[in-house]
Amino acid sequence: MADYDVIVIGAGLGGLSAGALLSAQGRKVLILEQSARIGGCCSSFERDGFRFDVGASIVEIIKPIEDVFKKLGTTLQAEIDLISCDPVMSVLRKDGSNLTIPFSLEKTGALIRSIAPEDGKRWDDFVDFCAEMADVSLETFFGMPADSMLDMLKMVNHQPRLVKYLPVFLSSYQQILERFFKDERVLQCMGYQSLYFGLPPALVPGPYAMIPYTEQMGIYYPRGGMIQIPAALLRVGEKFGLQIKYNSPVSRVIIRDHRAVGVQLEDGSEISASVIVSDINAKTLYLKLIGDEYLSRLSRKGIQSYAYSKAVPMLYVGVDFEPPLESHHNLIAATPEDINQYWWNHVETGQLDYETVGLVCWPTRSDASLAPQGCHVLNIIPEGFYHLADKNWDAIKDTFIEKEIDYYSKFAVPGLKEHVRFAECSTPLDFERQLRLPQGAIYALQQDIAAQAIFRPAARSKNIRGLYLVGASTHPGGGVPSTIASGLIASNLIQTFEN
Ligand SMILES: Cc1cc2nc3c(=O)[nH]c(=O)nc-3n(C[C@H](O)[C@H](O)[C@H](O)COP(=O)(O)OP(=O)(O)OC[C@H]3O[C@@H](n4cnc5c(N)ncnc54)[C@H](O)[C@@H]3O)c2cc1C
Repeated sequence: MADYDVIVIGAGLGGLSAGALLSAQGRKVLILEQSARIGGCCSSFERDGFRFDVGASIVEIIKPIEDVFKKLGTTLQAEIDLISCDPVMSVLRKDGSNLTIPFSLEKTGALIRSIAPEDGKRWDDFVDFCAEMADVSLETFFGMPADSMLDMLKMVNHQPRLVKYLPVFLSSYQQILERFFKDERVLQCMGYQSLYFGLPPALVPGPYAMIPYTEQMGIYYPRGGMIQIPAALLRVGEKFGLQIKYNSPVSRVIIRDHRAVGVQLEDGSEISASVIVSDINAKTLYLKLIGDEYLSRLSRKGIQSYAYSKAVPMLYVGVDFEPPLESHHNLIAATPEDINQYWWNHVETGQLDYETVGLVCWPTRSDASLAPQGCHVLNIIPEGFYHLADKNWDAIKDTFIEKEIDYYSKFAVPGLKEHVRFAECSTPLDFERQLRLPQGAIYALQQDIAAQAIFRPAARSKNIRGLYLVGASTHPGGGVPSTIASGLIASNLIQTFEN
C-alpha cells in the first residue's frame, strides 16, 4: 500500500492545479515543494512594507482558470478578486508621444484609425480573424491533451473549425501581424508581446499573433498580488484534503518495472505513491531525477534536444511618488522587427544592452494596498538572458540595477531615480538558484513550432507508467493560464488511466 495516491513535485501553478483537482477526485495527494513558498514563478514577497510579485505580473486569457475552479466546485470570481486593468496598456515612446490602448475594441480601432487610417480599417478584419481563432482554440488547444496525433485528431473532431487555422501555425507571429498592419507606430504596439512566448516575432508561431486581440478580452491583476492565484488553488485543494510539504526538494523519482512508484528527497527519505505528477522542468525530471537509462533511444535524444526557453531579469522597485504612467501595464515601443534585431544582436550573442526593450508593471495602480501610504510598487522587466558573453550576473547585478533605473528614468518613468526607496533584482541566475529554473528559463522549454503540442514533452509520460507532467514544460506551455490548464489536462488523464 503506497503512502499516497499521488505525489506532485513542485507547488507551481501546474502542480497546485493538478493537486487540487486530483484531491477533488477523492485521491490522497501530497505536494512536495523545495522552497518555503507556493506559486513558483507566480508568487509574491514582502520587503520594507512593499509587496512585490516574483515573476508573473498580470493574467490574460482567464477562461482556462475559470474552467479549473468550476471543476473544483467553485468559481474563479468567488476565490480571487481579479481587478480588470483599464486601459489595457501604454506604449512608451522615446520622444514622449506615448500611446495608451483603451479596453475597448471600438476605441482601439478609432485610435488606430487616427494614427493610420488604412491600418484602422484592417483592425476590424484582424478582430474578426482573431475572435474566431480564439474561440476555437481556447476550448480545444488549451483544454485537451496533445500527446499524440490521435489527440490532435480528437481536437479537430471536437472543433472542426480548427482545421481552418492549421495553416496559421506555419506562419510566424510577424507574418500574421504584417498581413494586417503596415504603420510603424501601430506595429510598435504589437511587437513586444511575442516575447510573452519567449521568442522574437519571426520565430513565434502565427496563432499567438492574436495577443493584441486577446488583451482586449481583459488583462487582470489579483487584489493582494499574484500569489493570490496559487493561494486560492491551495486553499480549495485543502478543502478536499490536499497536503503540502515545504522545504522538501525531490532528488529522484523511484522507478520499478518502468513504473513511477515514489520519490526520494534530498535528505534521503523516501515516500511512495501510485502516481507521480511533475511540475518541474522536463529536462531536469528526465535527465536528473529519473535518468536517461529509463528512456527509449528516441526519447533520450528528444529530451536532450529541447532548448531552454528565454530568461529575464526582474527589477523590484519601491518608490515614494506616484509614477507618471497611465496604465498598469506599460511596454517600451518596439516593432516586430525591433524585437527581432534585439534578439539576433543581443540574446544570440550574449551582449547585454542596458537600454533596450522592456516592460514596466505598476501593480499599485490597481491595488494600493501593496505599498505603504503614498508609495508605489513597480516591477520592471528589462530584457535580458542567461548566458552573458563576458560577464557574470552576480558580478554585474548592482551595476545592472543602477543602469536600468537610469535608463527607465530617462523617458519611461521620469523622476524614478530620485524616488527609489527600495530596489532589488532577480537575475536569471537567481531564478535558477531560487526556483530551480534551469538557465533561468521562464517558460521551461523554448516554444517554437518544433516544441509545441505533440512535439512538447507529453502530459502522460511515454516512457514511465504512472508519471504525468504539468507546468510550462508540457502542453499548452508556459504562462499563468496555460500552466493552470495543464493541471486540468493531467488530472483528466489520470482519471482515465489510473483507477
Ligand atoms: C519573470 C517572469 C515573468 C513572468 N510574467 C508572466 C506574466 O506576466 N503572465 C503570465 O501569464 N506568465 C508569466 N510568466 C510565466 C509564468 O509565471 C510561468 O509560466 C508559470 O507560473 C510556471 O508555472 P509552472 O507550473 O510551470 O511551475 P514553476 O513556477 O516553475 O514552479 C515549479 C515549482 O517547483 C519547485 N521545484 C523545482 N524543483 C523542485 C524539486 N526538485 N523538488 C520540489 N520542488 C521543486 C519550484 O520551487 C517551484 O515552486 C512569467 C515568469 C517569470 C519568471
